[in-house]
Amino acid sequence: MSSPLISEVLPDLLEEIVFLLQGTGAEPLEQQLRSLRVESICDCGDENCASFATATKVKVAEVVELNPTEGFLIIDLDAAQQICFIEVLNRPDVKYLLEEHYLKRADKG
Ligand SMILES: [Zn+2]
Repeated sequence: MSSPLISEVLPDLLEEIVFLLQGTGAEPLEQQLRSLRVESICDCGDENCASFATATKVKVAEVVELNPTEGFLIIDLDAAQQICFIEVLNRPDVKYLLEEHYLKRADKG
């Protein structure tokens, strides 16, 4: 069982993040983002949270804060400059897609 690519589950969010990276100095992260997988969904229980981990080990060393028109988007990097977690808050659109994806998978058994 392999984890889904962000581009499979959240294609619109991926393009939004790539767009928001422009001008931040972190544009090279685009390549990494396009090959990243949603390893696990944040289990903090906050109903406004749609964050997810993109690595099996999350150890944040640096963050890139984006400036979306809606909600909060923050990319967490580990010490090796690998994206390990993406913080998504107040984005019901993203939460809906994540839940839908994981519910569907649960239904299939
Ligand atoms: Zn959370």
